[in-house]
Amino acid sequence: MPKPQIKKLRVGWFSFTCCEDSTIVFTELLNENWEAWKKLIDFRHARILQTKNVLDEMDVAFVEGAISSPEQAEKLKKIRSLSTMLVAIGACAVIGLPSSQRNDFDEKTKEEIEFILTRFNHLDRVQPLKELVKVDVEIPGCPMDEKKFLATVDLALKKFKII
Ligand code: SF4
Repeated sequence: MPKPQIKKLRVGWFSFTCCEDSTIVFTELLNENWEAWKKLIDFRHARILQTKNVLDEMDVAFVEGAISSPEQAEKLKKIRSLSTMLVAIGACAVIGLPSSQRNDFDEKTKEEIEFILTRFNHLDRVQPLKELVKVDVEIPGCPMDEKKFLATVDLALKKFKII
């Protein structure tokens, strides 16, 4: 008889400033992987999958999007403090772009959007994750590179001795 699976990989999936296309890619990957992953992964926080989410200790935090407000920066630091491995998902998280396009607007355009930044309490610059916290793994691509994501899930399952 196969041994029951007891320990699971504790995972969080988070989205900041972005179009959430990597979240869509992630949910598409569940078509092929859900049966295996549900036995191995405890999704502590993944709003795309469930309404009941907790922000507590995680083995791996997957973080999509760039950081554009002080509130987001604080939340990212909290996620970092709770996670052993933090994975930047997609180009916006890895290098800021394309979400950070406004950083390079000319002065006139910057002046035109100033009231929006003020109204929504946005930072002057949109930042990639690594400018604020330590990033352990980067998954590039717009949206993310599926193969590298799957390899990273596999790596984490091994690193945390789930498989
Ligand atoms: S990297 Fe591309 S797909 Fe991912 S959130 Fe940014 S714009 Fe969207």
